[in-house]
Amino acid sequence: MNDIRRLSAGLSLAAIVAAGAVSVCAGSGDVDVETLRHAMVDTIERHSKQSSEQISNRVLEAVSRVARNEFVPAEFADAAYQDRPLPIGHGQTISQPYIVALMTELAKVDPADVVLEVGTGSGYQAAILSRLARRVYTIEIVEALAREAAGRLERLGFSNVEVKVGDGYKGWPAHAPFDAIVVTAAPEQIPAPLIEQLAPGGRLVIPVGPRDAVQRLTVVEKNAEGLITKREVTPVRFVPLTGEH
Ligand code: SAM
Repeated sequence: MNDIRRLSAGLSLAAIVAAGAVSVCAGSGDVDVETLRHAMVDTIERHSKQSSEQISNRVLEAVSRVARNEFVPAEFADAAYQDRPLPIGHGQTISQPYIVALMTELAKVDPADVVLEVGTGSGYQAAILSRLARRVYTIEIVEALAREAAGRLERLGFSNVEVKVGDGYKGWPAHAPFDAIVVTAAPEQIPAPLIEQLAPGGRLVIPVGPRDAVQRLTVVEKNAEGLITKREVTPVRFVPLTGEH
């Protein structure tokens, strides 16, 4: 393992992965990051095969290309490829990888699509969406998180993502309509502005329900005539959508 360097805070994974030489300490010794990432993707695939929602190879490929360890605080680098949410500061979390993959799948993102994400957090979900869409707009209400995520996404070369600080309940009217909207914090009711900002044929993927309790991951679709349908997919637990809307 002499060509494998230890991952350290502040080191650009983009640069090191290009050299094929990264490792993290995963409890029982050093393991290279790509092996961990592929194991995580295998876990997501297994999980998906046991559920009624199949995750496509296209989404799995996007997940396999994004270095999650770049999006978690240095103290959690060892856990970056476990299939679980992790703290990112300010009382917030980076979501469980399986749920990120599932929400991405449900959003049915095409290469020509313009996507809105509400709840940038670490920027991880936005990074995965950016590999599948033409453009991603993402809104974060905690200014420090938004700034960190914007810097991280830029450093890692995700150039088709724009981050703004604000209340995502209101969407981002200047860039609407959106082909897909992914919301990663839970409101009690679906925000009307997000439905309004869906393009005909658009998909809104959103956890809906009370704070500190189980919510329902819901897919809202707007057809070509503007007709709205809703489908509940699975129980989930997200941080609440905050703000004074
Ligand atoms: N998508 C994120 C990622 O990949 O790291 C995880 C998001 S975390 C589960 C939810 C995020 O939504 C938090 O960062 C939180 O601050 C943010 N949030 C909560 N209410 C919001 C609102 N009204 N507008 C925008 N962001 C909000």
